[in-house]
Amino acid sequence: MSMKIAILPGDGIGTEIVAEAVKVMQALDLRFETETALVGGAAYEAHGHPLPESTLKLAKAADAVLFGAVGDWKYDKLERALRPEQAILGLRKHLGLFANLRPALCYAELTHASSLKPELVAGLDILIIRELTGDIYFGQPRGRRTATDGLFPGAEEAFDTMRYTRPEIERIAHVAFQAARKRAGGKGGKVTSVDKANVLETFQFWKDVVGQVHAQYADVELEHMYVDNAAMQLVKAPKNFDVIVTGNMFGDILSDEAAMLTGSIGMLPSASLDAADKGLYEPSHGSAPDIAGKGVANPLATILSVAMMLRYSLEQPEAADRIESAVRAVLAAGLRTPDIWSEGTAKVGTRAMGDAVVAALTGKTITPS
Ligand code: NAD
Repeated sequence: MSMKIAILPGDGIGTEIVAEAVKVMQALDLRFETETALVGGAAYEAHGHPLPESTLKLAKAADAVLFGAVGDWKYDKLERALRPEQAILGLRKHLGLFANLRPALCYAELTHASSLKPELVAGLDILIIRELTGDIYFGQPRGRRTATDGLFPGAEEAFDTMRYTRPEIERIAHVAFQAARKRAGGKGGKVTSVDKANVLETFQFWKDVVGQVHAQYADVELEHMYVDNAAMQLVKAPKNFDVIVTGNMFGDILSDEAAMLTGSIGMLPSASLDAADKGLYEPSHGSAPDIAGKGVANPLATILSVAMMLRYSLEQPEAADRIESAVRAVLAAGLRTPDIWSEGTAKVGTRAMGDAVVAALTGKTITPS
């Protein structure tokens, strides 16, 4: 049976890194039916909207979505609804993608690329689970920007509302406890629920509900931690964490912090899942306008997102393992894009890195060119 994959490269480096990920998919002996569509700034230019109806329809009909990145500073003054980033928020909302899984894994070869001491990150393997469709990002913003000047004409204040419902917290808590169990081999593991219960009503509620769901997972350890402390502990002793579960805004920030522990945001894949494990897979980084078009972006986060897609949505765990092994082989052979390069390794561009992963997948020897 062929698997229908919607390919949405987006803007900036999105097109470059997705091209490499597609090359890797094609090198697997699996049948994919792929269709590509515009999203983000590219879609706005062509259709006047960052998430055209045709793109949404394609994403809804697919078994999984492979997404690059959206955004460019040139759209900063557009009214909010038309900005490229709205496409990803719209896809999450319309596809019911409420759980964002971001593994932060430190490859032995990249221990020295981290800004932390090697002993703090060597062997790091944590999973951040961010709630994606609630919280302050889906509250009620007040005040409207105009398309022309990007200001709030006549406004004296602006606010956004933070809100979570019980079912929203319950379902993400279940995802976290089940993921902890899975990582521990079926039983056990630890979940750190990150909140700001000392200041915010919303997060006192979060903490209470997570605690109630925990009653169904007695084998999994649960700890509660304030977000400011969690931000500190992530750089002080990151290996003390196993699974972190948190709301949309805290998760947005902490997952980028965790990304840097591993050396580069260019290495980190992510999965956004609905209740039936259908998902959208994308690198954790953005469209990197500063390096777009230069052929130097690291495609590994996107390639590893394909591995997550195979594991979580397409029930092809062996193929996922093969991709992850190929990435390890390429790193072991000393190939590095500039973001992870260090003295004594071979600097390669986006395309050469993709080619090397394909070579490793097909059993060829990888030699730095
Ligand atoms: P960014 O993640 O695009 O870039 C941050 C830094 O990391 C930059 O220096 C960039 O060069 C580097 N970087 C990112 N990915 C890389 C890769 N694969 N290889 C090598 N280096 C890489 O974040 P930003 O600069 O804050 O945002 C740029 C644009 O992306 C903005 O318009 C933002 O809104 C958008 N954005 C989109 C998404 C998404 O599509 N899901 C996520 C975050 C940001």
